[in-house]
Amino acid sequence: MIKKIGHIGIAVPDLEEGIQLYRDKLGLKFIGTEVVEDQKVKVAMFEAGDVHIELLEPTGDDSPIAAFLQKTGGGMHHICYEVDDVDESLMEFEENGIRLIDKKSRPGASGTRVGFLHPKSTGRVLTELNSHK
Ligand code: ZN
Repeated sequence: MIKKIGHIGIAVPDLEEGIQLYRDKLGLKFIGTEVVEDQKVKVAMFEAGDVHIELLEPTGDDSPIAAFLQKTGGGMHHICYEVDDVDESLMEFEENGIRLIDKKSRPGASGTRVGFLHPKSTGRVLTELNSHK
């Protein structure tokens, strides 16, 4: 079951420039950066009230974010909902006819578990689920 929006993922070609925009010009509270090896990205997290903004920079040409940047130049990439248990929710959504990218949860930023739903079955919105366990 979806609890709330956890974060909104935004792809950027240059993380430092992204940080300057979101921290210095837009004035969001900067939490920090982290490399998520499993997804081949370096992320910068910000607080916008209860919701986080996640900037994503690819760490290699084989990163899914590199492909996205190539295609679009960057911008809104995904929305992330918080759930109690990612694996349980993936199963539940699959039963509801949602196509999955991840059959099982994998490691995300800040020790979370994450799993992605396929945009073809979520109205062309790449959808991430995450849980803090
Ligand atoms: Zn995310």
